This record gives sequence, C-alpha cells and structure tokens, in this order.
Amino acid sequence: TQFNELGLAAPLLRALEEEGYTSPTPIQAQAIPAAIAGRDVLGIAQTGTGKTAAFALPLLHRLANDPKRAAPYTCRVLILSPTRELASQIHESVRAYGRHIRPSTALIFGGVPENPQKRAMAKGVDVLIATPGRLMDLLNQRALKLEGIEVFVLDEADQMLDRGFWPSIRRIAGMLPRTKHTMFFSATMPEDIAKLAKELLPDPVRVEV
Ligand code: AMP
Repeated sequence: TQFNELGLAAPLLRALEEEGYTSPTPIQAQAIPAAIAGRDVLGIAQTGTGKTAAFALPLLHRLANDPKRAAPYTCRVLILSPTRELASQIHESVRAYGRHIRPSTALIFGGVPENPQKRAMAKGVDVLIATPGRLMDLLNQRALKLEGIEVFVLDEADQMLDRGFWPSIRRIAGMLPRTKHTMFFSATMPEDIAKLAKELLPDPVRVEV
C-alpha cells in the first residue's frame, strides 16, 4: 500500500513525502481509510508502530476538506494524552504533517503557568492536545468548552488508567457532543479499558498490530 492509495488530501501527501515516509505502516494502512470514511477507530498498538500518524492524518484530512474557524473558547479536535512528553510529541507530529494546512493548535499540560494556555483557548483552536489534569483545571475555570468538538482522540488509554486519570477521562468524555468522530488507542485492552471503549465507540473498526 502507498500513502496515495489511502484517500488523503494532497497537502498531507506532500508533507509525508517531505518527512521521508515512503509507505504507511500496518496500523496506518488499516486505520486511515476507515477513519476517513467516518468510522470510529479502536486501535490496539504500541508506541513505535506509527499510531500517531494513524490518528493525526485523518483528523488533518478533515480540517483540510472543511476549513472553518473554531469558535472562541472551543477546539474542533481534542487529543488527550497521558504525559506532557507524549503530548508534546503529538503536537510536533500534528504540526509537521499539517504544515501545508496550517491548523491552529494548542498544547495544554500541567507544571507550567495557565495564563498562556487560557489565552490560546480564548481565540479558539483547530487542534487541542492536552493532558487530562490541566484540562480539567481549565474546564473548571470555564477557560474553554468542549461543545462543538468534531473529533476526539484518546491516546494510550492504558497509561491513563495507570496514572489515575480515569475519573477525569470519564468526566471529559461525558462533556463531549453526542455526534463526533472518536479514535481510541491503547497498547493493551484489559477489562476496564474495553468497557470504556464500548461506551465511547459503539461500532468501531478495530485495528490491531
Ligand atoms: P509512533 O508509533 O506514532 O510513536 O511513531 C513512531 C515513529 O515512526 C515516529 O518517529 C514517526 O515519525 C515514524 N513514522 C510513523 N509513520 C511512519 C511511516 N509511514 N514511515 C516512516 N516512519 C514513520
């Protein structure tokens, strides 16, 4: 399979070529066409499999095909990540793959001042990448709202559970609009994670590598 067989928008294919990616990894080849077709994706994949591009490319494809501005205090896409390091990596990947689409992005995590993050959200952003703790803090302060979210990505669900983020994840998930596109990734699928996945994704395409 080649990237140009997956249905991705031209500006994304150009960026992938510039990144030096020649062909999709197995998880990308499975997840991208399903996600572009609007199916929810349940991915069981470890870091190193190319899972970041597997969810980042379809959401960027949506932004490329429907370029509209996010309303103030909202985002069109929410990506939840368990750690600031991983959130930063996802942010870099989204910026790299999206370089010809130029989405507005924001990165929200704890341990740094809140005010710049609040100012970024006040303008509205296309893609918000956040860790659950600081996101809950800002939600409690009404610094952003989750209505209108089009795409929800939960990355490393098993790490979220290990780090005690489960109550926050459940509350955040409960605030999301009913109609949205969801992509859910975990390296493993124990009982509690399978249960949440079932609630969040009623009829997913399951991809496993
Ligand atoms: P991830 O599993 O998302 O952490 O990605 C692992 C590494 O593989 C990252 O450094 C990516 O830049 C790289 N990568 C992802 N997809 C591809 C691809 N299709 N071809 C070559 N490298 C890739």
